[in-house]
Amino acid sequence: MKRESDPDTDWILNHLGEDRVDYRNAVAPPVFQSSIFCFDSVAQMRAALSDELATPFYTRGCNPTVETLRRKLAALEGAQDCLLFASGSAAIAAAVMDNVSQGDHVVCVQKPYSWTGKLLSKLLARFGVLVDYVDATKIDAVEAALRANTRLLFLESPCSLTFEMQDLVALATIARERGIKTICDNSYATPINQRPLDWGVDMVVHSASKYLNGHSDVVAGVLCASSNCIRSIFEGPFMTLGGIISPHDAWLMMRGLRTLPLRLERVAKTALKVIEFLEAHPRVARVYHPFAKSFSQPELTRKYLAQPGGLLSLSLKNGNDAAAERFCDSLKRFLIACSWGGYESLVFPLCGLSDSENYQQSQALGAGLVRLSLGLEDASVLIDDLDQALNTLS
Ligand SMILES: *Cc1c(COP(=O)(O)O)cnc(C)c1O
Repeated sequence: MKRESDPDTDWILNHLGEDRVDYRNAVAPPVFQSSIFCFDSVAQMRAALSDELATPFYTRGCNPTVETLRRKLAALEGAQDCLLFASGSAAIAAAVMDNVSQGDHVVCVQKPYSWTGKLLSKLLARFGVLVDYVDATKIDAVEAALRANTRLLFLESPCSLTFEMQDLVALATIARERGIKTICDNSYATPINQRPLDWGVDMVVHSASKYLNGHSDVVAGVLCASSNCIRSIFEGPFMTLGGIISPHDAWLMMRGLRTLPLRLERVAKTALKVIEFLEAHPRVARVYHPFAKSFSQPELTRKYLAQPGGLLSLSLKNGNDAAAERFCDSLKRFLIACSWGGYESLVFPLCGLSDSENYQQSQALGAGLVRLSLGLEDASVLIDDLDQALNTLS
């Protein structure tokens, strides 16, 4: 579903949470690079301590720069509140850990982000949490996997390697009927292109290291949810594990966020051109992207995604790892690197994985899978480069 451009988005990005009279009318907010905040009296300190989420006391709990960013992100996601973390993985771990105890069961999408899988299968398994990975493109399969002790349904829509989507409203409804909480990793779409809370999902998590920051210079995470849910996470894993964002990184991220709609609009246009080019190229076997012609769930794309994202994967015709490697080495405008969502185009070949477990999983997807993150360059520059690199494959 194409959401009409939200008139509030510009206000949120440019003004919300920026109390300029408090900082001498500076247009750009200062960085509150302070670990602690002091009080005129003991009574004042006691009052601050009674609500550490809302009052600057110690920066692990509340910092004014971080608070401004929290308000903007909560408003963008249509959430009551938001917490910021040192990484997307920290946000995911906090959201999951606040909702499970020993003996509880989690249902997770197949092929989640790799460290989400390790959190569930390795770390939380040591504490008696059980997990099943389910093909969540099939609602029946999710329903069949739910047990009496299932507490959490973990979604990632679209998934960030082969872009399977989930019917958020259908799954959120099934979960809610059974008292099961839902989390959706929304890093790919961002709130500009999809707002899972509007569809009944309970918690949204992000790797802000990707589009939200957008400049490949900050690692950070975001968690948006209801006030009650955020308060529980704040008093639990947030304050005890303490994986907070620094005020300086929050400030950098706020600067990156100002141009989020603009960057995504540019990337959406580029993605459509690049996909069209790749799908027509004789050396390309398949393009993986929710807006690709071959995508198997076009009805979910139409329902949930306002625009194409700039992340896509491709497999090469008669491809193997050697061909994928040659293709990547031949690209001149795509840097070989992990991650995605920055201003610069990147290429990430799965044959470059040395972790054998991840490598085996990637082989199951087909040898020679290559993921591209399209940056802000002109589409024709990227297409010319892809063309020359594909043509080196005989
Ligand atoms: C990168 C990523 C994460 C992890 O975020 P970090 O900021 O690297 O910890 C989680 N989910 C998805 C989909 C990602 O791409």
